Amino acid sequence: MSNIGTVGVVGAGQMGNGIAHVCALAGYDVHLNDVSDEALARGIETIEANMTRQVSRSLITPEEMTAGLKRIQPGTGLDVFGKVDLAIEAATENREVKEAIFKSLCDVVPERAYLATNTSSISITRLAATTDRPEKFIGLHFMNPVPLMKLMEVIRGLATDQETYEMALGFADRLGKTTTNAEDYPAFIVNRVLVPMINEAVYALYEGVGTVESIDTAMKLGANHPMGPLELADFIGLDTCLSIMQVLHDGLADTKYRPCPLLVKYVEAGWTGRKAKRGFYDYRGDEPVPTR
Ligand code: NAD
Repeated sequence: MSNIGTVGVVGAGQMGNGIAHVCALAGYDVHLNDVSDEALARGIETIEANMTRQVSRSLITPEEMTAGLKRIQPGTGLDVFGKVDLAIEAATENREVKEAIFKSLCDVVPERAYLATNTSSISITRLAATTDRPEKFIGLHFMNPVPLMKLMEVIRGLATDQETYEMALGFADRLGKTTTNAEDYPAFIVNRVLVPMINEAVYALYEGVGTVESIDTAMKLGANHPMGPLELADFIGLDTCLSIMQVLHDGLADTKYRPCPLLVKYVEAGWTGRKAKRGFYDYRGDEPVPTR
């Protein structure tokens, strides 16, 4: 078992607030950090709404919700990370942003603390190498939405030691997550398979093979997927999907991973999916409406 008591989470977006949520319910004290006060407020609001839903479904008790919420301390400063045992970075999928965060974290977290990233695709070894403790650095890839999804991919960098790996397994177990081991190659397992499929669905849209609705219906009813690929892309975030395709393209140097120009265009427009209320669907009304 690991000796983790306090967890710091950097980034309060879709993933960061979900990670804070499951950590708090598992009994960890949590510091939730973001550069934006607005993102922090939205993050806490989301946690409250999601826990309320869990209470209404009798998945947790109202007392567990109250205790869980109390364990989460939001803030924009990193000074409070001086007491964390594990810091998990869940900020925007951008290598420079993440490297800058780890640089700041190394200045404040205790020497004993482990560092983890929730990156979907960026090299764990490379991020670890920018820190003062590559042996205590690991990839903990949670799935979206974190409170619901059972899997956590665990990715060791070249230098990650056995103790850190065992900490990760114990931590996942306490969160009630099942782990799968992925080696440190671009996008690991889940996104190596999933995101090129999404990109192919965007190509099908781009080439006029089908509309947004026909592509999603085809994959839901024809392949028994619970969500269509374009609906799923909106859920993940189109900027995140594009960034993963770019990492696959750069890292594996194979043209089969080239991002679809239509995906690029949606991101350029700021139509990044559900979080922006517009992506392949428009979420501003009561029902999502296809944008193409
Ligand atoms: P998001 O856009 O919802 O949230 C990112 C948050 O990071 C924002 O609130 C932003 O303000 C904050 N941020 C940016 N720079 C920061 C900094 N320097 N310090 C602190 N906070 C900062 O993105 P997301 O979907 O939550 O993704 C976060 C990470 O999780 C990415 O690495 C992504 O690849 C990974 N991930 C995403 C999914 C998914 O389905 N969306 C699944 C698994 C992993």
